[in-house]
Amino acid sequence: MDDKNLKTCPFCGGQAVFVPLSTCSGYIACVDCNIAIKTVWDDRLNKVENGKTWDEKAAKMWNRRCEK
Ligand SMILES: [Zn+2]
Repeated sequence: MDDKNLKTCPFCGGQAVFVPLSTCSGYIACVDCNIAIKTVWDDRLNKVENGKTWDEKAAKMWNRRCEK
């Protein structure tokens, strides 16, 4: 499965999108709920893992939150 595949919003079922803030940070937000449930990732605050980009790691966090 593609690491950058985002599950739909766990609250409203809306589309989730990547919102880059820089080359190494950004967040994922639902287009309907927007910032209320965003998942933030910043490589400057977290260890870089296997050369993955911020969006792949943020997507993993987002998808994990959806699996409840
Ligand atoms: Zn939503």
